[in-house]
Amino acid sequence: MNTRFKNHKGPSINLNLNVRGLAQSATLAINELSTTLHRQGKHIYRLGLGQSPFPVPTPVVEELKVNAFQKDYLPVNGLNQLRDTVARWFFKRQGLEYNEKNVLIGPGSKELMFLLQLVYYGDLVIPTPSWVSYAPQAHIIGRHVRWLSTSAENNWMLVPDELESLCAKDPDRPRLVILNYPSNPTGRTYSQRQLKTLAKIARQNKVILLSDEIYGELEHKGEHISIARFYPEGTIISNGLSKWCGAGGWRLGLMVFPESLDWLCKSMAVVASETYTSTSAPIQFAAVRAFQGGTVIEHYLSQCRRILKALGQYAYISLKSAGVRVSEPQGGFYLFPDFSPFKEKFNARGIMTSEQFCSTLLEKTGVAILPGAHFGRPEEELTARVAYVDFDGARALEAAEKYPLTVDLDEAFLETYTNNTLTAVDLIVSWIHDYLSE
Ligand code: PMP
Repeated sequence: MNTRFKNHKGPSINLNLNVRGLAQSATLAINELSTTLHRQGKHIYRLGLGQSPFPVPTPVVEELKVNAFQKDYLPVNGLNQLRDTVARWFFKRQGLEYNEKNVLIGPGSKELMFLLQLVYYGDLVIPTPSWVSYAPQAHIIGRHVRWLSTSAENNWMLVPDELESLCAKDPDRPRLVILNYPSNPTGRTYSQRQLKTLAKIARQNKVILLSDEIYGELEHKGEHISIARFYPEGTIISNGLSKWCGAGGWRLGLMVFPESLDWLCKSMAVVASETYTSTSAPIQFAAVRAFQGGTVIEHYLSQCRRILKALGQYAYISLKSAGVRVSEPQGGFYLFPDFSPFKEKFNARGIMTSEQFCSTLLEKTGVAILPGAHFGRPEEELTARVAYVDFDGARALEAAEKYPLTVDLDEAFLETYTNNTLTAVDLIVSWIHDYLSE
C-alpha cells in the first residue's frame, strides 16, 4: 500500500496511498484561512468552525481543578466511575438501559469513530450532506463509502426509501450507517415517527447504526430522542463533552454499545490500547461531574438552547426572506442554506461552485462559511454551512439570566450579545442583494 512520494522540499517520504491527496480536515482549514486574513487586518466573521461558544459549566471546571493531580494511566475503556455515570445518564435521558461495560471512553468521539471504522469490516453508508470527517476516515482506512441522496424538500434528511433501496441491492452486505441528528451541517433532526421507520429498515437489513448524537442535548426544545430506543440491539450511540458541555478542546468522547455489539467495543479497546492508551485522567474525572448533571447543568443547558434557538431563528428568517432556500433549525448551531435560487446570476459572474461562492463571500464581506461540497454535496450546487456561533457565549449566558426562562430572547438581546453573528447574517443577505444587482 505504501508508495514513494517525492517531496521537492525535502527527502522522499513514504505516504500511504489512502492518505495521499487528502487535505487537512476542511473545517480546520477555513479557520486557519480566517486567522490569516484577520492577521492582515480584515475583520472576520467566524461562521466556519463549529465550536460551542459557551464556557464549560462551572461545577465541571471546578472538578477539573480538583483533579489536576490525577496522573496515572486509566483503564483503556475509561474510568469505571465515568462509564457507570454515563450509563446512568443514558437511562435518565433516554430510558436506555446500559451498564458500565457497554461504555467506551475515548479522546473525542471523532477518534472513536475512526476506531469503529477500522475494526468493522462493512461499507460506510452516510447521507449527503454529512459531517466532514466520516468519509475521509473511511478513505484512510480503505472502506467503501456509499452516499445516500437527500433533497432540500426533505430538509436534507435521510428518507427511509433511500436506505431500503440501497440495502435491497445487496442484502447481505455488511454496512455501517451513520445518522447524525440534530445534524451537522443542517441543524435538522428526525421526528419520533421518522426514527421508528428508519429503525425498522435498519433492523430488517441488519445494518449497524452509529447514531452520532453529539448535538442531542442542544436540540432547541430539549426533546432529543435517540434511535437506540427503537433499534437498541443494532445501535451504537456516540456523544461527548465537546458540544453540549462547551469542551471541544478537552477531547472527551464516548460510545455506548448494546451487548450484541460488545465484540466491536472490545476490538476497539484493543486498538486503543496500542495507540492512545487511555484518555486524559483529569478530564475523565471532571467528565463524571458533567454526566452527573443536576440543576446547575440543566439550567446551563436551558440557557444555551434558548440562545441558540433565538439566533438560529433570526438567521433562518433573514436568509429565507432574502430568497435563500433554507430549513428551519431544530438543534445544534448550524444552518445549511442553498443559494441555488440565484444560481444563474452567480454563474454569470463566474461563481460556479460552492467553494467559489464561499471564498468570494469571505473576500468581499469577511464572512467565513463552509462550502456544501465539503459535506458531500455536488461541487456546483451553491450550498454552504453556516455555524452561527461567533459570539461571546459567557457574556450571552450571563445576560440571558435577566430574562425569565419562559420568554423568548428578543432581537434586542441578540443585537447586544450576539452582534457579530447577527451582522454576519445581515452581511450575507446584503451582499447577495448588492452583488447580484451590480
Ligand atoms: N460528529 C459531529 C457531527 C461533529 O460535528 C463533531 C465535531 N465537530 C464530532 C462528531 C466530533 O466531536 P469530538 O471528536 O470533539 O467528540
